[in-house]
Amino acid sequence: RKKRDGKNGAQVYHPSFEDGTRERAAIEHDIELGLSNDWFDAYFQPIIQMKTGRIVGYEALLRLLHPERGVIPPGRLISIAEETGAIDRVGTRMLEKALENFVRLSEASGNSDTYLAINLSPLQFEPALPMKLTAMTNRYGIAPGRIVIEITEATLLHDNPQIRTILDSFNRHGYRIALDDFGTGYSSLSYLNRFPVDIVKIDQSFVRAMCDDETELNEKSRMLVEGITAISHKMACTVVAEGIETEEQWALLKSFGVDNGQGYLFARPQSVATLIAEQRAKPEPRQRSVA
Ligand code: C2E
Ligand code: MG
Ligand code: MG
Ligand code: MG
Repeated sequence: RKKRDGKNGAQVYHPSFEDGTRERAAIEHDIELGLSNDWFDAYFQPIIQMKTGRIVGYEALLRLLHPERGVIPPGRLISIAEETGAIDRVGTRMLEKALENFVRLSEASGNSDTYLAINLSPLQFEPALPMKLTAMTNRYGIAPGRIVIEITEATLLHDNPQIRTILDSFNRHGYRIALDDFGTGYSSLSYLNRFPVDIVKIDQSFVRAMCDDETELNEKSRMLVEGITAISHKMACTVVAEGIETEEQWALLKSFGVDNGQGYLFARPQSVATLIAEQRAKPEPRQRSVA
């Protein structure tokens, strides 16, 4: 965009700022349209057991199904919804969609052993949240033991007593808690000690670095992943690795004792209708032989 000077040469447009503002306004608009037109959906990515390749659960991932622009991933959508306060309505809608889809999928596959992992923003942590989730899972007839709540280190950051109370309440109700993107952000191993964490999700950046020949980090990343896995197991946590894209990564992670994993190697996030159609075609999609 051209720089335009005003009469006295003082007026300068900053293209990056202006484009950012426009993009932001467009996203805010899409969020409102998505809510009023029911364009939000919960896509599901299978989580597999590393040893067998069997599906043990699904992570619900927000998608905006835009009639003109197609399937829009969360990206900046979540952070903008957090800034504008729309996250409450988006989060509640997403919970409804995720639970509804989970029931459909469980009924279609006849499998009631799989779990559903749901991402929650720190801003959704208000005192009424445990009661709200319990009312919803009751309404859908889903046992709390089948639900995993994914939080990030940002939620635990200030050791906020209110957050602790909410997590303890989830824990008492039988929901499990996963610490997402572990190893990025403000990681502290003491979180595993101080909060009722059941699952540690190793961030995909480590998984990528383990086998990335472009960096010198391979060896160190491998040691980190192996170490995080051992410590998590000692703290009685299950370990899930994210972003597995190659057989080599799968084999390494398996050798480190990582329990479960998810990534494009196994399946991309997809609509529940697609997952159900796939399962009809093959009863155990993507199942691989035991290595
Ligand atoms: P996340 O919770 O860490 O989710 C994993 C992200 O990694 C997903 O991106 C998933 O599509 C992507 N992924 C999975 N396997 C692979 C792989 O093999 N390679 C690569 N390159 N990527 C892979 P997505 O769906 O774009 O979501 C991004 C983030 O948005 C999520 O990261 C989560 O932090 C947030 N998010 C998604 N849905 C929700 C939601 O309902 N509520 C909240 N608060 N946040 C959400
Ligand atoms: Mg997650
Ligand atoms: Mg993650
Ligand atoms: Mg992430």
